[in-house]
Order: sequence, then structure tokens, then C-alpha cells
Amino acid sequence: MAKYQKSLIAVDLSQESSEVIERGLAVSNGCNVSLLHVIEPLTFAYGGDIPMDLSEVQEQLQSQAQEKLHKLAEQHGIKTADCQVVVGQPASEIHRIADEAEVDLIIVGSHGRSGLALLLGSTSNGVLHGANCDVLAVRVHPSE
Ligand code: AMP
Repeated sequence: MAKYQKSLIAVDLSQESSEVIERGLAVSNGCNVSLLHVIEPLTFAYGGDIPMDLSEVQEQLQSQAQEKLHKLAEQHGIKTADCQVVVGQPASEIHRIADEAEVDLIIVGSHGRSGLALLLGSTSNGVLHGANCDVLAVRVHPSE
């Protein structure tokens, strides 16, 4: 069976991210790996109810996320050039980037920041449905 050529590891930057990356790298077995984090726009969270300009806060969140992602990448020997932070709805951005980069494997955690141990989280579930390539949901073990 053909080996994977390109994989995309999506992380929510929670404590479980290292576990997802480690397994992702092991499965990718030397193929081209990239790392992705999606930031949800603040206007999604607050539905435009706050009468103030959130763009500065959004920019700060983006640069903090980028810093965290680069640190994680460095810890796992992934080049910063292979890291990406985008703004949007996580599952659809993961699909979009995966299609654009023509990856043949997407790796996510079975659940993230809010997850229940026995269920797939909503992002992992969303990624699984409608992906144009294989998806690996790494069983993560929440710390608490
Ligand atoms: P959840 O479905 O939110 O419990 O998260 C499950 C997995 O989906 C996480 O372990 C990540 O692999 C991925 N994921 C969740 N949120 C994001 C995000 N904002 N950016 C990238 N990946 C994410």
C-alpha cells in the first residue's frame, strides 16, 4: 500500500497537542508534515454584540497563537515554515488547507480543550465528515 506523501496535523494548542503531534509524526513516517492552528474570529464568539473594534485583540491573539505553535513545532523538529495559523471555523479551515495543500492524511486529536474521553470532539467529528482524504483521530488522554 502506498505511503502517505503529505500530512497535516491540526492542533488546538491545548496540553494534548504534543501527544497529537508525536503520534502524527510517527504515522507520517518521514513524509512532508505541516502544522495548523485555527483561530476562531472574535466576532463569531460574540456575534457582533460588542460595540467596539476587536481587530487589535484579534491580531494579538494571532501572534500569541503563532508563537505557541512555533514553540511546539520546534520541540518536535518541525520547521516554522511548515506552520500555519489561520482565522476561521476550525473544521472548515482544516478541510480548506488540506485540499489546498493536497494532503493525503489529516491528523487531529480525538478531543481537545473541552472533550469527553469517550466521545469525538466536535472539531474532530467535523473534520472526519467531509474530508477528502484519510483522517486519523489520535486518542488523547486529558490530564484532568
Ligand atoms: P475538539 O473537537 O474541539 O475537542 O478538538 C479535537 C481536535 O481537533 C484537537 O485535538 C485538534 O487536533 C483539533 N482542533 C480543535 N480545535 C482546533 C483549532 N482551533 N485549530 C486546529 N485544530 C483544532
